Amino acid sequence: MIVTICSDYEYNGVPPVNDEVHDSPQLRTIADLPVQMKAAILREGSPEYSVELIAVPQPRSGEALIRVAACGVCHSDLHVARGQIAFPRPAVLGHELSGTIVALGPNTEELELGTRVVAGFIMPCTKCENCLRGRDDICSEFFAQNRVNGALFDGESRIALNDGTRLNMYSAAGFAEYAVAPISALAAVADGLDLAQAAVLGCAGMTGYGAVSRAAGDVQGRTAAVIAVGGVGLSIVQMLAAMGASQVIAVDIDDNKLALAREIGATDAVNGMGIDVPARIRELTGGRGVDFAFEALGSAQTLGQAVRSVGEGGRTVAVGLAGSEAEVSVPITTFVRRGHSMVGSFGARTRVDLPAVVSLAAAGGFALDTLVTDTFGLDEINDAYRALGAGEIRGRAIVVFEEQSS
Ligand SMILES: [Zn+2]
Ligand SMILES: [Zn+2]
Repeated sequence: MIVTICSDYEYNGVPPVNDEVHDSPQLRTIADLPVQMKAAILREGSPEYSVELIAVPQPRSGEALIRVAACGVCHSDLHVARGQIAFPRPAVLGHELSGTIVALGPNTEELELGTRVVAGFIMPCTKCENCLRGRDDICSEFFAQNRVNGALFDGESRIALNDGTRLNMYSAAGFAEYAVAPISALAAVADGLDLAQAAVLGCAGMTGYGAVSRAAGDVQGRTAAVIAVGGVGLSIVQMLAAMGASQVIAVDIDDNKLALAREIGATDAVNGMGIDVPARIRELTGGRGVDFAFEALGSAQTLGQAVRSVGEGGRTVAVGLAGSEAEVSVPITTFVRRGHSMVGSFGARTRVDLPAVVSLAAAGGFALDTLVTDTFGLDEINDAYRALGAGEIRGRAIVVFEEQSS
C-alpha cells in the first residue's frame, strides 16, 4: 500500500486546499488520485441520468474517500428518479456501494488506506439520541441531513458540477467513480468476497438482515412467507434459509424471480397472480398460517396479504416503502385475539449489522454470486434502470466501475 501525506491532491473547480489542511498529517491519501471523475447526474425534470465529469471530492473529518468498485441498482433510486420519492436535484444517487479507501479525513485513525469496504445506505451520525442507543436504522440526523437535504452531517455536499452548482448526495452518491462516506457507514469486506458483488450488502443485504434478525427475531425452526422477491425480498429469503427457518414460502407474480428464490433457499414458490395468497399460504402450512410474513414491495395490497397470512402469534414485517399516502387495513378482532404483531423495518443498525452481514456472506450464508444477476457499466446506467423498471432484473443488478490505476 502506498501512503503519502496529501502530496498532490487537487480538486478541479474547487479552491486549492489551504496549506494548513494540505500539510495536515491528518489527511491521508494514496498517490496519484485524478482531479476529475465520471458521475451519473440526475438533473431537474428528467428521470434519466447523464454521465458527466466532475471534481473528485475530498473527505472531511470522520470521512473516507472510496474508489467505487460497484454500486447496486435499487428500486429506491428508481422512485427518486421518477419523482415518487422527493429528493433535491441536481443529484447523484447510488446508495449501495463497495470499493477501496483511497483517502481519509481527520479523525479516522482506526481505518487504513487501501481497505476494501462496503458502505451501508444508512450512514449513522453516531451522536443523535437514536444512534446513542444503537438505533442507527432511525438516525434522525441521517434522515434530516441526507434524505431531506442531500448533504452529509455538516449540512454540505461534497460534490458539485464544474460550474459550482451543488450536487445533492443520496446516501454516499455511489454512482460516481469516487464517493465520500462517513466511516460510521463502512464495513471491511472480507478477502474471500468479490468486492464488486459485495456492494449489494449495503442495502439489499443489510435490509434483509435487519428484517429477519432484528424485526422478526429468532426464526430458527419457524415458518415464513416473503411477499415480493426482488433484490430485498430475495435477500430476506436467503437470510431466512441461513438462519434456519423451517419453511420459506416465496410469493411473486414473476416466475423467473420465484425460480431464483427456490435456488437460494425458498422451500415453496407461489405465483400470486389472480389467486387468494393468504389462503394458499395457509394451505401450504397445514392450515396454520406462517409465523412471519415479510412484505418487500410496499403496496397496500401485498401488505394486506402479509397481514392475513400469519398464524397465531404471528408477526408481519413491513419492509417495502410506499407513497406517503398509502395505508393498510388490519382485521382488528383477528389481530387482537390471535396475538398478531406488525413491525416496520428500514435497513438495519449499520455499525453492528453491516459487519455481521459481511461475515455471514464470507461464511457462505449469503450467496452474492447468485443474488447479483446483472452487471452494467456506468455509461449503461439508464439501461439498468429501464430494465429494473420493466421487471427484467431477475435478482440484483450492479453498476461496475472500471479498475483505475492508483
Ligand atoms: Zn436500496
Ligand atoms: Zn444519529
